[in-house]
Amino acid sequence: MRIRNLLNTLLQKQIDWSAYCQPLPDCSGVDILRLDLLHPLLQGNKALKLAGWWQHFERGNYKKIITFGGPFSNHLHATAAFARALDIELLCMVRGYAAAPLTPTLRDCLAWGAQLEFLDRSEYGLRYQHGYRQQLARQHQALVIPEGGAGSAGELACAGLAEFVGAYDEFWLAAGSGTTALGVAHELARLVFATRLVAVNVVADQGELQRQWQQRMPSGVDWRITDGSLGGFARQTPELGKLLEHYDHLGLPLDPVYTGKLLLAFLRHQQHGVNGRYRVLLLHSGGLQGRNR
Ligand SMILES: *Cc1c(COP(=O)(O)O)cnc(C)c1O
Repeated sequence: MRIRNLLNTLLQKQIDWSAYCQPLPDCSGVDILRLDLLHPLLQGNKALKLAGWWQHFERGNYKKIITFGGPFSNHLHATAAFARALDIELLCMVRGYAAAPLTPTLRDCLAWGAQLEFLDRSEYGLRYQHGYRQQLARQHQALVIPEGGAGSAGELACAGLAEFVGAYDEFWLAAGSGTTALGVAHELARLVFATRLVAVNVVADQGELQRQWQQRMPSGVDWRITDGSLGGFARQTPELGKLLEHYDHLGLPLDPVYTGKLLLAFLRHQQHGVNGRYRVLLLHSGGLQGRNR
C-alpha cells in the first residue's frame, strides 16, 4: 500500500486489524498484532502517530515540519519516509554532533531529502520547552512535532486500535513517550472496555515525563506500568540477544529497543502462570529499522 493510502485508511479507521494479527509462536492464548507489517518504511505505531500529525499539518498553514530525535530514532526515520512520500519539507533536529559518522538511520533520512541539524546535549534539552518550540515554529512557519510524535495529534489514530484490543483481557505494549498507550487508553475508557492495559516502560528514568503521563491516564481504565528497560534506554543484555535470535528463527523479527524488551517483560511475567482462558494481545510496534546498526 502506498504511504498516502495507508495514512488515509488509518485516519478513517478502515483498517482490518485482524489481517495483521497472529498467534505468538510458542505461546498459546497469546496473539501479537504485527504493526511492523503495515509498511516497510513507515511501520509500527509511528504510522499511526504520523497519520494524526498529517491531518494536523493539512489543516494548518505550514511550510514544513520540524521534529526531534536521536541518531537511531525510529521516529526520525519514519517521519523522513512520510515527508518524502507526501512531498513535505522536513527539518530533523538531531541529538549529537555533525562531525560524528552518520548512522544508517540518518543516512536514510538524508537520502529521502530531510535536512539535518545537530544539537548538543543542552540545546537538545530545550525540546520540551513550549517557548522554544513556538519560536522554531514561527521562525520557519513550521509544524513542530515533539520527539517520538507525542501529543494529542499523535494519539488520535492510536485510538483506532481500541476496538480491536477490546476483545482481549489484557493488552501489552512497549512505551517510550507513552503516546500510543494514552491514545488507546482514552478510547478504551470511552468505549467502556474492561481490557487491562500493561505498558512496559523501556526508558529507565523519565521522571517528570512519566508523572505527567500517569496523570493523563484516564480513570476507568485498568492499567499498569512495568519497568522493562533492563537498566537503560537501548541497553542490551545477552538474554535479550538470545530472545531476538529465538524469535528470528520462528519468523517473528523484533527490535532490540522496544519490542524485544516487551517480549522479555511479558515472558518473565508469564512464568508466574496464566489462566488458560485469559486472552492476551501484544503489540508489535515496529522499529525494525533500528536493527541496522
Ligand atoms: C516509538 C516506539 C515506541 C514507543 O511509542 P510511544 O508512543 O512513544 O510510547 C514503541 N515501539 C517502537 C518500535 C517504537 O518505534
